[in-house]
Amino acid sequence: MKVFKFGGASVNSAAAVRNMASIVAHQHDGPLVVVVSAMGKTTNLLEQLVPGVRPAADHPALLDQNRQYHLSIVRDLFPDLSHPVYAKLDTLFAQLEQQSALAPTTYNFDYSQTVCFGELISTTIISHFLNSIGLTNQWVDIRQVIATDNQYREGIVDFATTQRNTDRLILPLAQHSIVVTQGFIAGSADGHTSTLGREGSDYSASILSYCLNAESMTIWKDVPGFLNADPKYFPDTVKIEQIPYNEAIELAYYGASVIHPKTVKPIQNKNIQLHIRSFLNPHAPGSVIGPFPTISPLTPLYIFKRNQTLLSILPKDFSFIAEDNLQTIFAALARLNIRVNLMQNTALSFSLCIDDNPLLLDQLRDQLQHQFHLRYNQGLQLITIRYYTQHIIDHIVGSRTILLQQRTRTTTQLIIQ
Ligand code: ASP
Ligand code: MG
Repeated sequence: MKVFKFGGASVNSAAAVRNMASIVAHQHDGPLVVVVSAMGKTTNLLEQLVPGVRPAADHPALLDQNRQYHLSIVRDLFPDLSHPVYAKLDTLFAQLEQQSALAPTTYNFDYSQTVCFGELISTTIISHFLNSIGLTNQWVDIRQVIATDNQYREGIVDFATTQRNTDRLILPLAQHSIVVTQGFIAGSADGHTSTLGREGSDYSASILSYCLNAESMTIWKDVPGFLNADPKYFPDTVKIEQIPYNEAIELAYYGASVIHPKTVKPIQNKNIQLHIRSFLNPHAPGSVIGPFPTISPLTPLYIFKRNQTLLSILPKDFSFIAEDNLQTIFAALARLNIRVNLMQNTALSFSLCIDDNPLLLDQLRDQLQHQFHLRYNQGLQLITIRYYTQHIIDHIVGSRTILLQQRTRTTTQLIIQ
């Protein structure tokens, strides 16, 4: 059994879907499960349709943008307008419209009930397209398989239930046909939709690889493999050929966007190798994450996270930031499911770096303001450098202001204006 994951960029146009189909056709030499993300930037758009995020008056244009984007791809792939895929998509578009018109409840719940349509739509299109060119496949609703708690956004996976569901619902199908299913989305314990965090489709593929005891997992990307920096922001990247599991976990934790942070652990536990390969050059070997002693070649690694908020939290009663204060702060962060990218405490304040999100920041302020003053700075950059030298740091920072810096022997992190 092999598991392939195709991200948004690999299916962002009709030509991309055809290319993806040809990879499935050519690389397919036995049972295969195909995990697919939402097409292109669909999830960003759907995040705007989460009830309460934008005024209802903005919804029609956003819904139309989403519909037209997908229909332009589908019309190219299915010139016969009476093809059943059109009716299926109409139903999904209508359900999305209804969902986005609901009164807001809690953000995390509303979020997952809304953004799930990206993957439901993409897999519907892709499953039909593969069938239409003779790649017989079964579409599976992954919400029946991957089980999470009731956190809804960044749900915690219940592996025992997921294992049982995989054995029951995927294994039998995969014996005689390709399985096509959604990344990123899952089913919450109370029967609703949950999601696994942005870029979570990698994690979905890893969960399935684990439960299926896959012989390998492959993420098909628009880069040649695991690069030492994001080529969008860095001119001279180096491809890492081999990455030890633990190194990949650390890099993903720091925000290397090539892979979702939770992806590696399940496959590491089963010693399954994870290939990162280019859908633009499907015959090139790419990079492998596996049981290696060190990264090779050994080179500095750069991780840039943009749109960061640096939040300083100061107790109103001038008590030093002590364990009980920290407990209150972390409880609020956990309740709101806010991920901390970096933290530091001084005698008088506690600083933390989180992704910009005005809505969640407001909710955090609501929960903490009776006890603390909150000061924040938005639109910052968090840079992580592994295997750094001072020369490299100076070069990267240039004349910009460093607001906060941390160093260990191998890694430095800087928050920069
Ligand atoms: N579609 C989701 C996102 O854009 C999940 C993924 O792409 O992995 O974050
Ligand atoms: Mg994606």
